[in-house]
Amino acid sequence: MALVLCSRCLQTKPGLETKPPGKYGALVQHQVCQECWGEWMVVMPRIINHYGLNLGLPEDRQQLQQAMAEYLNLPV
Ligand SMILES: [Zn+2]
Repeated sequence: MALVLCSRCLQTKPGLETKPPGKYGALVQHQVCQECWGEWMVVMPRIINHYGLNLGLPEDRQQLQQAMAEYLNLPV
């Protein structure tokens, strides 16, 4: 598994073994460490609940992707 310079914690740590789904999947795999991704996995359902997101709707999926990019400090 490759080391990545994580855009969130700014440390060089092991990255994800597989590319997550979504349009930022490749970015996440190359720029987010396992730990920060794990934190996002905890935060994500709270965001979905907080905003009442329906992931069957493209605009809601877009909103979640945006929230993820901000949380992980992705350069998008
Ligand atoms: Zn990190």
